[in-house]
Amino acid sequence: MKTQLLLTALLAASLVACQANPVSGRTQLVLVSEEQAQASSAQAYAQTVNEAQQKGNLSADAALKARVKRITDRLIAQAGNMYPPSREWKWSVVVIDEPTLNAWCMPGGKMAIYTGIISKLKLTDDEIAQIMGHEIAHAMLGHGRERMSRAIAMQGSMTLGSIIAGRDLSVLAPVADVALTLPNSREGESEADRYGIELAARAGYDPHAAVSLWEKMSQASGNGTPQFLSTHPSPDNRIQALNALVPTMMPIYEKAR
Ligand SMILES: [Zn+2]
Repeated sequence: MKTQLLLTALLAASLVACQANPVSGRTQLVLVSEEQAQASSAQAYAQTVNEAQQKGNLSADAALKARVKRITDRLIAQAGNMYPPSREWKWSVVVIDEPTLNAWCMPGGKMAIYTGIISKLKLTDDEIAQIMGHEIAHAMLGHGRERMSRAIAMQGSMTLGSIIAGRDLSVLAPVADVALTLPNSREGESEADRYGIELAARAGYDPHAAVSLWEKMSQASGNGTPQFLSTHPSPDNRIQALNALVPTMMPIYEKAR
């Protein structure tokens, strides 16, 4: 009975929630509105930053924080040109001092990068721009909402019911949190690679760095799976596909630098 209710709810939701993404044109199953996704992400972000602060894990390295801010500011400016609704986003970036190889951008532009990925992979500015460009692309393309929708489906019919009814926003903050731990789809990864490398090129960052970044990442995966790779399944031809995009991206980069 309960299963049947859930299925009915899912079906009803999917009838109203299949939308073509305005950037990619791809049809996505979305059970939350962009507004819901952004509001709950802001809540989850505040929680994450607060916890990191309490553990003393917010980076105190002023030079590093300024470096990350400088790079993300240039990306944010170009995101506004590629996806105008992002001009209204309340962007924020935090550097978390943990050894994990991870970085993310929630719906609405709430970003984090971990010192582990910067130091262990010895990332250059161009490579940091590629990783954050890729993450911002996920947000521009509505992938966070897709992951949240899957997190909701996992949590069951009660959550789903209150979300469809649009009453209960508080149930969504944990959903935004869980969504961050779910892998993106392979399709989503290819899209984010394509839009991310262009975003970084428009901001004046070398497209070749997208290739070197993923080469470093695949080397790092030799010693256990980095957290980043568990949420970013690698299409088999990722490095090849990025390499093939470089010639198209070079004129954009040359013009911007
Ligand atoms: Zn990704």
